[in-house]
Amino acid sequence: MIVGILALQGAVREHVASLNRLGIESRVVKAEKDLKGLSGLILPGGESTAISLLANEVFLNRLTELAGNGFPMFGTCAGMILLASGIEGRDSGYTGAIEITVARNASGRQVDSFETVLDIEGIGKNVPAVFIRAPYIISHGPNVRPMASHQGWLVMARQENVLVASFHPELTEDTRVHEYFIEMVKETGN
Ligand code: GLN
Repeated sequence: MIVGILALQGAVREHVASLNRLGIESRVVKAEKDLKGLSGLILPGGESTAISLLANEVFLNRLTELAGNGFPMFGTCAGMILLASGIEGRDSGYTGAIEITVARNASGRQVDSFETVLDIEGIGKNVPAVFIRAPYIISHGPNVRPMASHQGWLVMARQENVLVASFHPELTEDTRVHEYFIEMVKETGN
């Protein structure tokens, strides 16, 4: 199994390190051609506007197509924004891989970054989570399964093969969230 990590901008190395700890091989993805042969894809946090400008339309459309074909994807923070079908203040989402609408920077400014622990359905209790100018999920479609909330806001969810988190699990030593995603990848038999 090789898991791709979108590497246009953002916290790429940290995801590579989390997967290394689990003994999972990873490969950085910079263009559509790099998606070949992968079993799943992680879209890291960073700056969604920057990432969307670096990813061309062909690439974003390919992600939409792959999501619809059952290809496992996991978006953290800015990565979640890229996968959302709706973004508050914008006409449309970038890929619409998951039926959620997000509010950008809902957790506050950079200086308001914080770490907390979450009880995540299907993963466990007291999972450390780092929030950095994090988006919150403000609404979701019927096929989306809410997995974790923080102060009443939905911050983690899954719709079949697409997993999203407002926070950064890769900035902690706890690998449970990545393990959960790897199980999703295994379930698809890729
Ligand atoms: N606020 C950033 C954005 O809108 C996301 C921040 C992050 O990924 N840590 O893209």
